[in-house]
Amino acid sequence: MTLQARPGLLDIKPYTPGAAAPDGAVKLSSNENALGCSPKAAEAFKAAADQLHVYPDGGATVLREAIGEAEGIDPERIVCGAGSDELLQLIGRAYLDPGDTVVQTQYGFLVYRLVAMQSGAQIVSAPEDGYTADIDSVLETAKDGAKIVFIANPNNPTGTWVPDSEIRRLREGLPRDTLLVVDGAYAEFVKEPGYGNPLKLVDDYENTVVTRTFSKIHGLAGLRLGWMYGPKEIVDVIHRVRGPFNVNLPAIEAGLAAIKDTGFVEESIAHNERWLGYLTQSIRGLGLEVTPSVCNFVLVHFPEEAGKDAMAANAFLAERGLIVRPVQPYGLPNALRITVGQDADNRRVVEALEAFVKG
Ligand SMILES: *Cc1c(COP(=O)(O)O)cnc(C)c1O
Repeated sequence: MTLQARPGLLDIKPYTPGAAAPDGAVKLSSNENALGCSPKAAEAFKAAADQLHVYPDGGATVLREAIGEAEGIDPERIVCGAGSDELLQLIGRAYLDPGDTVVQTQYGFLVYRLVAMQSGAQIVSAPEDGYTADIDSVLETAKDGAKIVFIANPNNPTGTWVPDSEIRRLREGLPRDTLLVVDGAYAEFVKEPGYGNPLKLVDDYENTVVTRTFSKIHGLAGLRLGWMYGPKEIVDVIHRVRGPFNVNLPAIEAGLAAIKDTGFVEESIAHNERWLGYLTQSIRGLGLEVTPSVCNFVLVHFPEEAGKDAMAANAFLAERGLIVRPVQPYGLPNALRITVGQDADNRRVVEALEAFVKG
C-alpha cells in the first residue's frame, strides 16, 4: 500500500535555491552579503564549538533581548526561528486550514506559495503595477476573505518598495481578522524617508506580524536565523507550534555578536548604496531595463529576441564565471536577478553584460 501524503502536497514544486558557483566562479544568485559577515559573529560562532553538547536556550532569550533593545521593541513579542523561512512556515501551520485563501503580490517571494500549499490553502496573486505592489489590487484580491496576506516590503525579486502609508492603507482596508505578514528581509537596506519603521505597524494594529532575517544585512544566511515581531496572542500560538529548540546555539551566539556589530551593518549599507547605484546606472547605460531597487540586488530585463534574451544572457554570464538568478519561476522569464557583489565582481558583471549586448 502506498502511503498517501496530505492532498495537495505532491503539487508543491520545491523551492529552487540560487545556483551554487563552481570553483572560481562568483555567486550572485542568492542575495548574500558581498562583505561576508561580521568578524565578531564568526568568532562567536567558533567559540560556540566548545558548547556543542549543550542544548540551546529554547527561548533564545539573550538574542530576543538584544533584538528588543536594538529595535526598541518588546522582547516578549519576538520569536526567533531558523531563518525567517521557518517563521513563515510556522505562521502557515498555525493559521491556515485546507481551502483557505492566501493573498500575495504578483511577483511575491516564492516561499509564500509553498506555505499556502503545505496547508492545502490556495494562493492568489494580486497584479502589480510596474513591478511594484499595488495596494488597491491587493485589497481587491483579498476582499472575499483572505486568511493571510503576505507582502514583502521591499520585495524580492523585484527590489521595489511601497511607503509605510500604503501598508497602513492596506491594513486599514483588510478585514480585521485577516493576518497581515510584512516580510522585512531587506528592511535595513532601505533609506527612503517614506519607508518608516514596519515594526510600528505591529504596535498600531491587530493581527499584523513583521518578519526579519539575519541572512541579508548580517550576512549569516548559512546559519539560518530570523525573527518575527507580533501581537501577544499570535506570538503565543507560534511558540506552541515551533520546535522546542528551533534556533541552534551557535546561531544564537553569532546572532548576538552580529547585532552588536553596528559598524559591520553600516559598512554593508554603504557598500550596497555605492554598488547598487553603479549596477543600475551602468546596466541601464547598456540599453537594458533595470527595475529601480532598494535591496542588495537588481532585476534586469532583456529583449525578447533569440540570442539576446535572459536565458542567453544567463548562459553568457555563467561561461564567464558569473552565476546570477533566472526568475522564470516568478513569472519573469525574460529577466535576471543579480546580487550586488564585491567591487571587482560588480565591474565584471557590467563588462560581461556590455560584451553580451554588443556581441
Ligand atoms: C532572503 C529572504 C528571506 C529570508 O530568508 P531566511 O530564511 O531568513 O534566510 C525572506 N523573505 C524574502 C523576501 C527574502 O528575499
